Amino acid sequence: MIMADCIFCKIADKEIPGKIIHEDDLCIAFLDLSQATVGHTLVIPKKHYDSMLTADPEIIAHVFKVAQVLANRIKERFNASGCNVLTNAGEAAGQTVHHFHVHVIPRYDENDGLK
Ligand code: ADP
Repeated sequence: MIMADCIFCKIADKEIPGKIIHEDDLCIAFLDLSQATVGHTLVIPKKHYDSMLTADPEIIAHVFKVAQVLANRIKERFNASGCNVLTNAGEAAGQTVHHFHVHVIPRYDENDGLK
């Protein structure tokens, strides 16, 4: 299901370009426009859910499984030391795009610019 005016629905639907690094029947992963660190990736379900709080639990499980696979791949590819895997739910929690997404943020060392 595609929501009008949802930028991530448009990326999933290939209406607007994204640097896609993974796609399957249920989800898609692409590089975050604003790279918190090199390799910062978002994993989203193709179907629109406003946030994790309202998403189908099976979709949540799938999105996090894909996030795990990609986190390992990205870590290896960019020789990262670790990674943050997280999702923000609701404006109070810092969510700015209201289509459920999981951030995979590779971490390098204490000087990688993030707290
Ligand atoms: P925050 O903006 O606080 O990180 P979110 O958790 O909602 O809040 O994350 C939205 C993410 O989507 C941001 O990291 C932002 O850089 C990214 N983003 C917004 N528009 C695009 C786009 N067109 N392509 C790729 N990433 C995007």
